[in-house]
Amino acid sequence: MTKVLIIGGGVSGLRIGSLLSKENISFKILESRGRVGGRVLTHNQDNNYFDLGPTWFWPETEKTITNLISELNIPTIEQYNEGNSLLELSKSEKPKYIESKKLNNKSRRIVGGINSLVNVLKSKIPSEKIELNKKVGSVIKNNDATFSINTYDEIKNENKSYHADILILTLPPRLLLESVSFTPKLPKKLQIDLLSKPTWMGAQAKIVVTFNKAFWRDKNLSGNVVSWAGPLREIYDASTEYDESALFGFFSLPPAIRNQYDNESINNQVIEQLIRLFGPEAQSYNNIFYKDWSQDKHTVTEGDKLNIESFPSYGEPPKYAENVIFSGTEYNEEHGGHLEGALVSAEKAYVKVKKLLT
Ligand SMILES: Cc1cc2nc3c(=O)[nH]c(=O)nc-3n(C[C@H](O)[C@H](O)[C@H](O)COP(=O)(O)OP(=O)(O)OC[C@H]3O[C@@H](n4cnc5c(N)ncnc54)[C@H](O)[C@@H]3O)c2cc1C
Repeated sequence: MTKVLIIGGGVSGLRIGSLLSKENISFKILESRGRVGGRVLTHNQDNNYFDLGPTWFWPETEKTITNLISELNIPTIEQYNEGNSLLELSKSEKPKYIESKKLNNKSRRIVGGINSLVNVLKSKIPSEKIELNKKVGSVIKNNDATFSINTYDEIKNENKSYHADILILTLPPRLLLESVSFTPKLPKKLQIDLLSKPTWMGAQAKIVVTFNKAFWRDKNLSGNVVSWAGPLREIYDASTEYDESALFGFFSLPPAIRNQYDNESINNQVIEQLIRLFGPEAQSYNNIFYKDWSQDKHTVTEGDKLNIESFPSYGEPPKYAENVIFSGTEYNEEHGGHLEGALVSAEKAYVKVKKLLT
């Protein structure tokens, strides 16, 4: 029997694994995808790295991720923020100019994308402790308070069971409720709590457009845009440290509308907006990378396909059992949604495991 089973190999699950690897505690990470990292997704285009999941951390307010990145010697770069930002109120009006530094929230990026952090965390965990393509479908609480966990591997079409003393659940709360069956059933109060925690960014999609040159910089534009006209709601410079130039954006089009278009149509609408905002040079793009998170079955539920209207009240759910720990960004009250929240909750989970085993 494994002492600790961690369900999910996103940032939270990997951070717990990296901490447990320093101890003499047997554990395993069961991950449903064929890769680790979860919502972290960095596209590698000829050794230029573009984030299609998270991009930034904020050193002034996010101490856990800032300290970890420094402890792991991971190089970082400042988000480009020179010149003016654009505010586009409608397609027919010229955008307004606002000095970008006035809006500066001092975010930083990781060299090689956020996946560099995932790779370092993964390298701290012995490889046999991470099992990929293991989708947990059911959890059975045994009479002796241990757990039996059943997984399905859709590549091999194979079921496998595991047994553990302590269970750490790092799935987004709504996905946990929807996709994992519990015996006995989770108490109603806990079910309602899980349902009330929407998956952060679950309704979003991200698009990266690459160019030979960051031509907007020559026009004294930072690349930052807030647009009410769409299809992109926010745009930022995503150029890499190796001088590959790029812009990335988040959509104002909700999932239901996005899904009516094919990728080519989405790309055309985005390029049209970039030409409107930055000039005809935007027509000469190199590549477009697109990830629609609302279509990602390892992240979202149907209910997550609606945009989050206000900041959700994230935090720890009501206690279920001493030996069941909830970890992941949506379980952190202060930094819920961000990588910081995933890491803070992971460190708390590690402390709880240590306490249970002493
Ligand atoms: C487009 C986008 C932009 C973002 N931008 C930022 C940003 O700039 N800065 C920031 O700080 N944060 C940002 N975030 C949020 C950040 O990505 C998350 O806070 C963080 O990655 C969450 O990590 P986690 O481990 O809690 O969850 P996840 O990454 O969701 O990990 C959960 C893991 O569980 C696995 N899983 C799911 N179901 C099962 C199952 N049944 N069995 C086994 N495993 C399962 C999943 O595959 C996944 O690997 C962004 C997110 C998105 C999508």
